[in-house]
Amino acid sequence: LHARPAALLVQAAKRFASDISIVVRDQAASAKSILGVLALGVDRGSRITIRAEGEDAEDALASLTRLIETNFGELGVRALRGLPSSRGIAIGPVYRCCRAGLLCEPRVVIDRAAEWARFEAALEGARDQLAAVHAGVSDDFGAGHAAIFNAQAMMLEDPELVQGVRSAIEGRGLNAECALLDTTEAYAEKLGSLDDEYLRGRAADVRDVAARVVRVLLGVDDSPFVGLTEPSVIIAPDLTPSDIALLDKSLVLGFCTAEGGPTSHAAILARALGLPAVVGAGSDVLGLRSGMLVVLDGGEGALVVDPDESTLDEYRARQGTIGGALAEARAHAHEPVVTREGRRVEVLANIGSVAEARVALEAGAAGVGLLRTEFLYLGRTRMPDEDEQYHAYRAILDALGDRPVVLRTLDLGSDKGAPFLSLPRESNPFLGVRGIRLGLSRPELLRTQLRAALRASVGHDVRLLFPLVATLGELRAARTLLEECRAELVAEGCAVADVGPIGVMIEVPAAALIIDKLALEADFFSIGTNDLSQYVMAADRTNAGVASLVSGFQPAVLRLVRDIIRVAHDHGRRVGLCGELAGEPLAIPILLGLGLDEFSMTPLAIPLAKQILRALSLSQAEAIAQTALDMDSPEAVQAVVRSQMPGVDMGGV
Ligand code: PEP
Ligand code: MG
Repeated sequence: LHARPAALLVQAAKRFASDISIVVRDQAASAKSILGVLALGVDRGSRITIRAEGEDAEDALASLTRLIETNFGELGVRALRGLPSSRGIAIGPVYRCCRAGLLCEPRVVIDRAAEWARFEAALEGARDQLAAVHAGVSDDFGAGHAAIFNAQAMMLEDPELVQGVRSAIEGRGLNAECALLDTTEAYAEKLGSLDDEYLRGRAADVRDVAARVVRVLLGVDDSPFVGLTEPSVIIAPDLTPSDIALLDKSLVLGFCTAEGGPTSHAAILARALGLPAVVGAGSDVLGLRSGMLVVLDGGEGALVVDPDESTLDEYRARQGTIGGALAEARAHAHEPVVTREGRRVEVLANIGSVAEARVALEAGAAGVGLLRTEFLYLGRTRMPDEDEQYHAYRAILDALGDRPVVLRTLDLGSDKGAPFLSLPRESNPFLGVRGIRLGLSRPELLRTQLRAALRASVGHDVRLLFPLVATLGELRAARTLLEECRAELVAEGCAVADVGPIGVMIEVPAAALIIDKLALEADFFSIGTNDLSQYVMAADRTNAGVASLVSGFQPAVLRLVRDIIRVAHDHGRRVGLCGELAGEPLAIPILLGLGLDEFSMTPLAIPLAKQILRALSLSQAEAIAQTALDMDSPEAVQAVVRSQMPGVDMGGV
């Protein structure tokens, strides 16, 4: 057990809550301690015993035994590891992506004016391509996901950038390709060195858009998938959002990238498509040749190279189980969820566009628990006016018919910017003017939206929801604004809906602590665990360094969720949850046990969530919740749920 296999063993052991030890001769060491395992001095041919004690002991033993039997990936089965990004198993040949080379040698051009004209024409071509990609992504994934291509198009119009290229061409006589790459690389490097992880990620967008223009200049194919003719597992250094948007879904079984993180746009799009994906697997994966057989396990973050028959059989069986369970879940997706005791639980969708509304209906959503309205604003250079907003809401509401829709008012600020707002720089944007604070400090913004929403709601079941409320004063001010808007519209003779139930998002610990007071003035609550977790744990949700703290499975977060539901119920108010946690298979039993009334999640998660809910009795869920909330860590919480749900498909988690 030298360093590499010992590290793999320890890494695998740490995924379990049980106490696990390795015993050799008369010595024992914790399997979670790398120094302990190394100090055992286990050499080839040694007989070792693995001992596990705890709720997930069986699983731990099976997993560690499998690791040893497969020789830690050194012989026979070779498994490369990356970050799990999108669940599912893909089995097929590798397609090693290689872009048409963007070999750009610096050249001195004689006719500088002609070179500048050539550049301008390429810009125009790239803009047209981006508009087409934007339209395609809007249709397939929704406007929220497409916003990035608007932002890329804006980069091409950036006067500083264009001026930089112009002076390189006209001043220095440099060819257009190199003039552009030199100029954009300076921006990309600047962005890449920022502290903010999200902004660092935008360096990839600058390079993506520059490469697009260069491809137009060189007249080479835009797609990295030229030559992809049979269904394959894509291996690439990294994939850009436009790559994913362009891929032919019938030919891509899944993908694995050397670089990138699970919050990259490529990973987000993969989840939206239900495509298995592993990212950040390191440069080893780039050594794989097209045509080699691989197994990609998106849930585990593993890529098994050249699997032997028994490994293949194992994965095919798992793939079949997951596929069968999903098909089974989909077959029942449109049936309501009633627990064994006869209590009805609502499963709703989080959406941001008409396209997502359609996906939600197909997935069996009873309605929409969170309509994110930011898509109308993100990346825009001017504020969408009342009529534009009215039509956008109306299209979504019409697609949903008479189903209930919770429409959240604009939640901009922090990581969600809109250029037309010219927001001042804040040193702590997540603690700054965002959500309802921004709406109340710029009442014309909120007013326009409320008027559009009230007009669009006629004939539909719409409930307004205010984000990031921390005080009673904010709720009161928002309600006053709403009533004023309605009175204005009535006075103007517009058709206008009644002000339906008013909801408050519980994302700030302050709101959770005054929920008894809020309950007197709000009609329902929706817990936003994405933000609530970061504020409870004092850990920025965009900072990879504290990612493990920002988890809805943290016992502290779950305890607060428990208290919110308890107090709200004491005051006769229903509680939903629309953070990512609501769609996490391992969180669902806990949330049901805590008494949650409504689960709202990304549409593709709905069928499995319903299946899990149906498999539970309330008393069983209550027992799971009680044990889980007494655990010491998110891993232990998850282990409790796993061990209490034997025989229930949990989507491979
Ligand atoms: C949340 O914070 O949990 C939430 C649903 O809002 P968003 O992710 O849009 O901030
Ligand atoms: Mg939020």
